Parts: sequence; C-alpha cells; structure tokens
Amino acid sequence: MSEYTTIVFILTASALFLFLLWAAVVSVKEKEKRAAWWFFSGAVVLPLMFLLPLFSESSFLDYFLLSLLAMMMIAGLLLMLPIGNNKNWRHPIPVKRIDERDTMFSRNELVSGSEDYLDYYARNPEKEKSDNIFRSKPGLLARGAVQYNPFHFASADASFDTVAEFKKAVDGPVAKEQVEVNAEQVTGYLKSWSKKLGAVDTGITELKEYHLYSVGGRAERRNKPIVKRHQYALAFTVEMAREMMMTAPASTVIMESAQQYLEAGRIAMQLASFIRKLGYEARAHIDGNYEVVCPLVARDAGLGELGRMGLLMTPKLGPRVRIGVVTTNLPLVVDEPLHDYSFIDFCIQCKKCAHVCPSNAISFEDEQEVDGVKRWQINQELCFNYWSVIGTDCGRCVAVCPFSHPDNTLHNLVRAGIKQSAPLRKVALKLDDLIYGRKPKPASKPEWADMH
Ligand code: SF4
Ligand code: SF4
Repeated sequence: MSEYTTIVFILTASALFLFLLWAAVVSVKEKEKRAAWWFFSGAVVLPLMFLLPLFSESSFLDYFLLSLLAMMMIAGLLLMLPIGNNKNWRHPIPVKRIDERDTMFSRNELVSGSEDYLDYYARNPEKEKSDNIFRSKPGLLARGAVQYNPFHFASADASFDTVAEFKKAVDGPVAKEQVEVNAEQVTGYLKSWSKKLGAVDTGITELKEYHLYSVGGRAERRNKPIVKRHQYALAFTVEMAREMMMTAPASTVIMESAQQYLEAGRIAMQLASFIRKLGYEARAHIDGNYEVVCPLVARDAGLGELGRMGLLMTPKLGPRVRIGVVTTNLPLVVDEPLHDYSFIDFCIQCKKCAHVCPSNAISFEDEQEVDGVKRWQINQELCFNYWSVIGTDCGRCVAVCPFSHPDNTLHNLVRAGIKQSAPLRKVALKLDDLIYGRKPKPASKPEWADMH
C-alpha cells in the first residue's frame, strides 16, 4: 500500500468517526436511544473497516476499499444534484370556502336537541350517526378518558381558559390618528418583533376570500357569514416542544398544544393591538375564534406547504408548530409562497403518519380531488372520535413525521438535501426508518411532568 493510500484511508476513517460520533452525541441529547445506538455502532465499525489495510498486506483489500470510497463519493455527489424538484409546481388554490360549522370543534359544541343541533343535522343528516360516536365517548380533557391525568388535563384546561379570556378583545377600537407608515419598514418591524415575542417564522399574504370560513361555527359567530374586511394577513408559527410532542398521544401532548395555542393567541393579540394603536384595523385570530383557515393563510404567506396530514409542513420544524394569524388593513409587503414540491414528493413516499395513526384517519393514497382541488384530507371524524376516547389531541402523526426532528445542524443538513434532490429524499426516508423506526414508540413523559 502506498503512503498516499494510507493517508486517504486514515483521513476517511477519521472523517467517518468524527461525523458519526457527533451524530451519536446529538442523538443522545435528543434522547433518541435507537438513533444513538446506530450512530455509535457506525462510528466504531465503519472507520475500522478503512483502517484494516494498515494491518494487512492484501492488495485486494486496498482496491476494494478504494473502489468503495470512490463509489461513496460519486453517490454522494449524485445525490446532491438538484433532480426531480418540479420547479413549475404550484400549490392548488381552493375553489370553495370551508364552512366552519363542518369542523369537528364546531360539531362538538352542538347541544343535543338545541335549535342549532336540529338545524345542522337537518342539513347534514349523514353526519349525525357518526357524530353520535364521539358524543358517546368521554370527550377531550374528560375525567373518564383513557389518557386522563388530573395534573396534565388541568394544566391544559388552564391554558385554554387563559386564551379564552383573550376572545373578547380579538378586535377593538382603532386609534383616531393614523400614523403614516412605510410598508417595507413596518413589515420588517412586525416580523422582527413577532420573533422577539416568540414566533419562529412570520410571513405576509394578501388576504383572499378562500382564506376565510364562509360561515362561522363557534360560539356567538355560529351561523354568521364571514365577510372579508381586511387586505392583508400576517401569519406566524410557534414551536410545540419536542420533548412533550414525542410522548403522543399522552396527556402531556394536550398540555403542550394548549400552551402553544395560548402563545400563538398572546402574540396575535399583541400584534393586532399594536396595529390598531397605529390607527389601522386589525383582528387577531386565536384558538376558538378564527375567521380564517390558518394553514391556508400560513402556506400562502410562504411559511410551508400542506402535507399528507393536511397540516402546515414548515421547512425547519415540519408540522410541529401552531399558527397564529392577524388580518389587517395596515399596508404591508407580501411574501412569495414557497411552491416547494419537495414536501409533496416526500409525503407521497413517506406515509409514516398514516402508518402510526391509531384511528386510520390518514390516507395512504396519493392526493385526491377534494372540493375541486388535488390535496390530502384526513378523515376528521375518525380522528376526533379517537381524541374523544383518549381525552387528548393525540398528535402521534406530528410526533413521528421526519420533518418534526429538531431544528439543528444534523437535521438541517438532511432537510437541505431533501429539498434539493428527489433521489436523496428516497435515501433519507429509508435512513429515517432505519435510524428512528417506521413506528417509533411514544417517548416517556419528561421527569418533571411525570405526575400520577
Ligand atoms: S409523516 Fe411523512 S407522509 Fe406524513 S406528513 Fe410527515 S413527511 Fe408527510
Ligand atoms: S392526531 Fe392521531 S388520530 Fe388524528 S390523524 Fe393524527 S395520528 Fe391520527
């Protein structure tokens, strides 16, 4: 073996060792035991393989390993090429507005025998039988639910109660004197300030009719047509903590989602109030009081694409976010939507959420025509029936999604590759299954929250 070949093997072994050891340490920090085991094993076995020639006279081994190295480098380079990205793809624009009264949260509010109940099921007789299934179950945050935990359910309820206090002030009086604004400047200010308040990402879109529900379906907004009053919508995301979401469908999940409904609500309230003080109309859209369909607004504001679960898939946190929206007449500069086909292509192949869904609510099929556009839609009845049995909002699909991994260098390297190359998406998916499992088990609750 030449001196040059020896150096190549030592450098390769060192690079592999350092990379895999780093990935293993990151996995330990993420409490991903299975991944840590794979990376540690790789950090031992793969570098050793390239060090074998140092202890052998076999020239066959040298040639074999040099060929293997060459193939690895060629494969790596090929996988980095921008292939299969369908640059002309444009996400579909809804042709029909959603009636909020058809959402499960609205149907859950119907009191049996009431005027609204009779009216709704007179218009939708096919839904009454299936809705009576969730009505026969304990319900969300109920004592008899499978995941009942008095501490966690009370914590979640406390967050929902707090956000409910905001509801009466989502809109309000506008300052009489209008501050003159430069659209670019105030847009930049709003984006920076929303991040300072706790948002992960913020985008702006022109408000379209299809962003709004056609008719309200919750509380005092029930049965009232929703009219477009504003020109712009600002959408932002807040992160749902991974250590809580990975416990899905346990009680700690609804604690977290309620907490982030509250965070998103608080930020939206502050932003809307700020805009009104400048002398422009603004409304915060918060838990239980949305006039807009948040994922659609956030998608058009450039924050992500809609995936197999029908949720917003964001570039850095996948679906592990909650969305807040403020609609306004303040002049703003709009963002370009992503129109990023890589999310759709990945979802077509992945189906991990469908595999773990305990209620079979997520389709294994490709996108289908729904209300005139090609998209995925979950079976909301099956999903909500399951929530009503366990008492939490489940979240298994969100927890296992490969896009939900933490926003750190290791996973962002993979995300960059997934965005760039269709072949790499296939490889990344196989590796994700191998390293994290196709059906990862729910994680234990954080120690501080493990109350019985
Ligand atoms: S789990 Fe897979 S299929 Fe489901 S939303 Fe995430 S990437 Fe798409
Ligand atoms: S929340 Fe649970 S039941 Fe609902 S779609 Fe996701 S995995 Fe299925």
